[in-house]
Amino acid sequence: MRILLGGIFHETHCFVDGTTPLRDFQVRRGAELLACEGDASPFGGVLEFARKSGWTVLPTVDFRASPSAIVEDAVIETWWREFRKLAEPELARGVDGIYLVLHGAMTSKSHPDVEGELLQRLREMRGAIRVPVFGVFDLHANFSQRMATHANCLVGYRENPHTDARETAVRAAKLLERSLQSGRPPRMFWQHPPVIWPPTGTGTQSEPMSGLEAMARRLEKGHNAFWSVSVSAGFAFADTPDTGVSFSISTTGSEAEARAVLTELGDFALRHKEAGNITDRPIDEVMKQILPLHEGLTVLVEPSDNIGGGASGDGTGILRALVNHRVANCAVCINDPESVGLLATRSPGSTVTLAIGGKGSRLDAGPLSLKVKLISRRDGRFELEDKQSHLASMAGDSFDMGPCAVVRHEGVTILLTSRKTPPFDLGQWRSQGIEPSKLSVIGVKAAVAHRRAYDPIAARMLWVDTPGPCSSDLRSLPFRKVRRPVYPLDELSR
Ligand SMILES: [Zn+2]
Repeated sequence: MRILLGGIFHETHCFVDGTTPLRDFQVRRGAELLACEGDASPFGGVLEFARKSGWTVLPTVDFRASPSAIVEDAVIETWWREFRKLAEPELARGVDGIYLVLHGAMTSKSHPDVEGELLQRLREMRGAIRVPVFGVFDLHANFSQRMATHANCLVGYRENPHTDARETAVRAAKLLERSLQSGRPPRMFWQHPPVIWPPTGTGTQSEPMSGLEAMARRLEKGHNAFWSVSVSAGFAFADTPDTGVSFSISTTGSEAEARAVLTELGDFALRHKEAGNITDRPIDEVMKQILPLHEGLTVLVEPSDNIGGGASGDGTGILRALVNHRVANCAVCINDPESVGLLATRSPGSTVTLAIGGKGSRLDAGPLSLKVKLISRRDGRFELEDKQSHLASMAGDSFDMGPCAVVRHEGVTILLTSRKTPPFDLGQWRSQGIEPSKLSVIGVKAAVAHRRAYDPIAARMLWVDTPGPCSSDLRSLPFRKVRRPVYPLDELSR
């Protein structure tokens, strides 16, 4: 079986400043894609399955970047040009299937639904009209009608944090194998209720996602024709007509059967919409609760600066609170290549005044000037301690934070990085000589996906509201393109 393999992966945040250019993407072409066989990523899983199944994999291109601002159109056109150049001659020779590793919430200036646009272009290529298109996508996809129309079976992650990215990719590959064997590829159907949830409301260990997931599994089992039922929590910070919660089914059965189930799932989401609209308490209110310090590690979670959601990771909200309240034995990580650069010639032990963080978002209070002692300078590449983490689903086995420095101001330890690093793996701290479990308070710039790493060491975890582009209060964000009415931006009359 000759299978075309490719990928494009970006979660686009329309409320952070600037644009995401091509140079921010990790680009892999041809044989470079095959090199990840066996690693912790979705590609790693698909390639391993392909070898076992005797597929001939025809690698094309993969573009991926961490969540960030709206993507420049040139990225989409470059991907398409490169994909087409490699895919066309293979399609001319004959291809049995196409497998794509997608995110599903990618947006460029001209294309609010990048995946739908590219799937449509792909489908319209000579020789591709009857080739089954399978693949995997992120639970935070803003899935669309065009994606459903132009694919046969895209399978979404079921867990948030995304511990099952690789497993889901393999599940989708198995379904492609089933389609190749049977010669009867399924079709996709999709529906979305008028609901948007902030990332804080999309964890699969709590309602409403836990209930939706359980329901999806039950419905998948209960209908013989269904190949896959996926729950997409959506990505609230991509401002598009498709933004929000949605459901998709891949089936060889009737449209009516699929629609009935999609409506059932949509009704559940509507009934439980308030449960997913989780907003946070102001940080000063939370500080009053945690001081004087209690036994064990307190994790302060700052969704407004959620790196995994596209924020700059240099917000000063938690840092200011830790400094103002003179908290002892605490730490926070701030992405600040400028400050790391200024420390490049300093020796550990020296004292310097730095303007820390606050450079990445107009919503932040701005850099915080602090007199700090340099503790250490190190290279930021670290091996992931948890190869099934959310970070592994994005990066594989290791991550590079760029040159790093650890500085201290009174009781506050600050890890300064040169590349923003989603806080999904404790190797981030340990590689820099900091043992996170021994701290009293740690600030984490995330919404949900940090929990797999931090739950085991935390005595308590508290979510705080600070100024920033990923605020969980969706009514505070300047939406322009979402469909209306939609909860929680509007009152729904039903
Ligand atoms: Zn996600």
